Amino acid sequence: LIAAVPHGAAPERAAITGEEVLRVTDIAKTYRRGGIFGAKAVVRAVHDADFTLKRGETLGLVGESGSGKSTLARCVVKLVTPEQGEIAYDGTNLRLLSRAAWKPYRQRIQMIFQDPYASLNPRRTVGDTIAEGPVTHGTPRAEALGRARELLRLVQLDAGAMDRYPHEFSGGQRQRIGIARALAMRPDLLIADEPVSALDVSVQAQVLALLAEIKARLGLTMLFITHDLRVAAQICDRVAVMQRGAIVEQGPTRQVFSAPQHAYTRQLLDSIP
Ligand code: ADP
Ligand code: MG
Repeated sequence: LIAAVPHGAAPERAAITGEEVLRVTDIAKTYRRGGIFGAKAVVRAVHDADFTLKRGETLGLVGESGSGKSTLARCVVKLVTPEQGEIAYDGTNLRLLSRAAWKPYRQRIQMIFQDPYASLNPRRTVGDTIAEGPVTHGTPRAEALGRARELLRLVQLDAGAMDRYPHEFSGGQRQRIGIARALAMRPDLLIADEPVSALDVSVQAQVLALLAEIKARLGLTMLFITHDLRVAAQICDRVAVMQRGAIVEQGPTRQVFSAPQHAYTRQLLDSIP
């Protein structure tokens, strides 16, 4: 596994500056679910999960299914509202913003998901899909379409894709479309929630290589969620290990994977075939 961790000093990697993009502190999110006979089940989905993200860095959130990774990421983009804590981005606590005040940040923090197909409109061409966000935010349509064409080249799809529909593409190609759509907003933070988990291993490798290249070229900062440590090893500069809602260990990928400090991290590493 360690052999798969790229050296941080490799020249093709984005420069990680000391500048802090995101600092999450003291976040807590509890879900209450109606149980049988009206009993309420309380799930402490996230607690004790402090982390910071520096410009140009990719931080992996790893841990088994149900450990709270998605909830933590969703708190950052306001899809989930935590009961407490601070999500400091660009000098602002995002948690305390109203929907209206949040809007400009929605543009700068983009998210990609496991299955982009679920969020791609089947009746909208790929070109319009990629251009839609910028057009909504005031970019002239012709300009947004021109940029969509450039983005298709960046994600290595041919320009013919512009006029085709999402169902005409494979899973890996759809994820490339999802990436292009996110990049169309010129985000400075990209949150990727299990972006390759639905793909075959060979396609996973291609999409990961693409993400690594884009990250280096655009200097993107990424929060990368995966339950798969092998995937984290390929793309993350640092990893934070989550267990039952808490980050139990975090550090440079190489260090955490070669000398894990927490028993749960060791257990995760041991479970890799
Ligand atoms: P992960 O992404 O690591 O799989 P999640 O953040 O999806 O973890 O889930 C963390 C915990 O919160 C799990 O116990 C899950 O069942 C619960 N959970 C997640 N979303 C909801 C929700 N919308 N309502 C109730 N419980 C939820
Ligand atoms: Mg998840």
